[in-house]
Amino acid sequence: MDYLSYNVDISWLSNYKTPAKARYYFELSDTEDIDKILEIVTWAKENNTKILWVSWGTNMLFAFDTYDGIVIKNSLAWWTYNSDSKILVSYGSEPIWNIAELLEKNYWQALWHRFIWLPGSVAWAVYGNAWCFGLETENNFVSCEVLDLEDGSIKTLYKEDMKFSYRSSILKLEKKYFLITATFDLSKKIEKYHSEVDNIDFRENKQPKWNSCGSFFKNPNKEWSAGYLIEQVWLKWHKIGWAYFSQRHANFLMNDGTWSYRDLLDLVAHAQKLVLDKFDIKLENEVQIIY
Ligand SMILES: Cc1cc2nc3c(=O)[nH]c(=O)nc-3n(C[C@H](O)[C@H](O)[C@H](O)COP(=O)(O)OP(=O)(O)OC[C@H]3O[C@@H](n4cnc5c(N)ncnc54)[C@H](O)[C@@H]3O)c2cc1C
Repeated sequence: MDYLSYNVDISWLSNYKTPAKARYYFELSDTEDIDKILEIVTWAKENNTKILWVSWGTNMLFAFDTYDGIVIKNSLAWWTYNSDSKILVSYGSEPIWNIAELLEKNYWQALWHRFIWLPGSVAWAVYGNAWCFGLETENNFVSCEVLDLEDGSIKTLYKEDMKFSYRSSILKLEKKYFLITATFDLSKKIEKYHSEVDNIDFRENKQPKWNSCGSFFKNPNKEWSAGYLIEQVWLKWHKIGWAYFSQRHANFLMNDGTWSYRDLLDLVAHAQKLVLDKFDIKLENEVQIIY
């Protein structure tokens, strides 16, 4: 397969920055590359090779030294906003925080204020129905253009097709679509609930910075947050090697320079065991562990 590079260092592609390589690697940087993706997908099927799609890698822990498959980095980024119709169209890899900030600066459009400093791409925001203090991606979503990886066609999925729910959508459920562009209607403010939290202050001063992928575990229910449970088993600031749970926010698993993903996995397993023993609650990952 001519398009693929071999044995490529991909450590920079996960926010945890643990050393990692990909057996095969392809970067999608031009719309003309979309045809190549189909060839790569067909080749992967014929050769029984798995594929990992990455936009900004802020939601993935690489649990391998070499990924035994193809890593496809999506770098298709560009967006446009029409201030009359208030329609926003963006390619998948565009960082959502960047759009949210520029909408305010350049267009006095503050509807996505909550998304300022939310890490990650538009593709993931749709894939995982990103959520910030009452605002969810689905609120202003109109449609997305996807490549159907099973039949090779380009399709438009509308809101009613998307099966949006808490941190999920059809893209996550069926894993057969590659998001090319997404369209949003920013003419109407729709929030699940109103919140007075200053999200910029929150991101700046209440969340830890550096190498993390945000909240590591899902909150098990409305009463118990994962961070509270981790504190209750005395794991806040607990270290295994260079991996630890942040002092600022106990559900943030951090990497302070560890050379191995194994420290991170050991700490995750340790937290799950202690919480299960003490509270009979099984903590589930929100961050994806990629094997
Ligand atoms: C500090 C911090 C704070 C956070 N706070 C919040 C928060 O408040 N609310 C919230 O909802 N989230 C939060 N998150 C999670 C964050 O929004 C996600 O990590 C981020 O959006 C993932 O985007 P990404 O581009 O890095 O995706 P990646 O990690 O690159 O990919 C994530 C998934 O999307 C799939 N994918 C990527 N591109 C495509 C595509 N084009 N088509 C189909 N599938 C694709 C990948 O295969 C993968 O399964 C936080 C994360 C961090 C690091």
